[in-house]
Amino acid sequence: MAEISWDLFQSQVERCALCGLARTATHKVPGQGDPASPLLLIGEGPGQAEDEQGLAFVGAAGQLLTRMLAAIRLPRDRVYIANIVKCRPPHNRVPTEEEARACLLPLRMQTALIRPKVILLLGATAARYTLDPDIRITRDRGRWTERKGVWMMPTYHPSALLRDPAKKKEAWQDLQSLQEKLISLGLYPDLYGTSTDTGSEPDFTV
Ligand code: URA
Repeated sequence: MAEISWDLFQSQVERCALCGLARTATHKVPGQGDPASPLLLIGEGPGQAEDEQGLAFVGAAGQLLTRMLAAIRLPRDRVYIANIVKCRPPHNRVPTEEEARACLLPLRMQTALIRPKVILLLGATAARYTLDPDIRITRDRGRWTERKGVWMMPTYHPSALLRDPAKKKEAWQDLQSLQEKLISLGLYPDLYGTSTDTGSEPDFTV
């Protein structure tokens, strides 16, 4: 088997036609960020803005995600952001199981290349295809699971927070828990030092 590399990953994504989504996509959205990041964020799939730009989380949900990361003092360019599917599902529908499973190989390649210590799963689709098919986000968000030395936690998708701002309180708890995990693992020492002060509840609407 060919050795995994970013070039191989990019070319696999570019030529992939394993499911029908590639036919309707304007641009494929492989994901972007720091390829050596200790933190990997996984969303569901590109929306319209992402499809137009070929970049993950650049629309309204992405802007909220940037503010959420900033609330725990994490600049967005210090993480890697990927999605379960690399092509936009028409009308932003949830990817089918067939589409999601067809796209797991590139996600596995990305994960193997990044070798994150912590994975934040944004929403039920991300959690179902990586952690547990029976996950229920309202019940299981905020719970940590360790697999082969990698810590994973599901939380609400930023789109869910845009639809229902009442969920932001729980999302903030999850973000604080994420920051505590990063600190306890000694990650991002230049940002966090040894501080455990996660501050007061922020307003993600700013
Ligand atoms: N929603 C996602 O799940 N991913 C994106 O890239 C944008 C919106």
